[in-house]
Amino acid sequence: MDRGRPTTTCDPSRRRERRRAGPNGTQDRRRALDRQREPLPTRVDATSPLPAAYHRVLSTGLQEIGVELSSAQRSAIDGHVRLLLAWNRSINLTAIRDPEAAAIGHVIDSLTVLPVMRERGLRSFVDLGSGGGFPGLPVAAALPADGALLVDSIAKKVRFVDAAAAAVGMAGTIATFTGRAEHLAGVPGHRERWPAVLARAVAALPELVELSFPLLVPGGVLIAWKRGDVSAEVTATTRATGALGGGTVQTADVSVTGLHGHRLVVITKTGPTPDDFPRDPAVRRRTPW
Ligand code: SAH
Repeated sequence: MDRGRPTTTCDPSRRRERRRAGPNGTQDRRRALDRQREPLPTRVDATSPLPAAYHRVLSTGLQEIGVELSSAQRSAIDGHVRLLLAWNRSINLTAIRDPEAAAIGHVIDSLTVLPVMRERGLRSFVDLGSGGGFPGLPVAAALPADGALLVDSIAKKVRFVDAAAAAVGMAGTIATFTGRAEHLAGVPGHRERWPAVLARAVAALPELVELSFPLLVPGGVLIAWKRGDVSAEVTATTRATGALGGGTVQTADVSVTGLHGHRLVVITKTGPTPDDFPRDPAVRRRTPW
């Protein structure tokens, strides 16, 4: 799922409207082209500072989740958001365009996982379908992580994550993989090696189990960001966990103002995953769980 994708660019009626718009339409098009030509910033100080409201929302959210950040951790996180909002003017990375909304909807939502990870001593992880770098980059900064691999099949998103990680001094901690998660399991050094896979807004739980379990060591955890009642989705996951090595499911409710109904689903893999998983995407589409 790509929440931020514009849906109107291919609408022919709108195209006609723009053509009829005459000189203004031409100006609009030129402005849009100029925006595309603006060089994308690769340094945080080349972007606009964040408003006080962003910092207020972030501080309140951090208190609510009981997380303290050093000033270096916080400036890495802020730098990522600044670059995201700047790149988002030219490249569609996120539907959230407002700094305050990014503070709660991206940063705090990502960091709700910290207590769960710290309690389990998890220091490295894969972020599956990381998009503009959430939850991976803020979690790697705040944990702090020994290593994180941020995976996405869309190259422009991974290019952004690489640029952001370098700009905030996290290139040594954050590695990226451009491609589908199902291919990563076949790359030497990744199969059954990772203690944790995080996934926010990527796929339904059974599919996430099929994508993540081949990457997890037995005893490793898949942590998925979900909303609302997840009981039906959890029940539908039993067949997938059974086939991929066995798993136990726990859910952790998130109680943070502005993140109503959010919860984390933590699935612990109990045994080894057979080599025939993950299946090819076409096969998975034909025979879903
Ligand atoms: N986790 C981010 C992005 C969510 S959008 C956030 O919460 O903001 C989902 C992202 O997952 C998209 O960028 C999409 O390209 C990626 N994605 C979906 N299925 C994938 C797969 N099988 N392998 C790699 N990336 C995938």
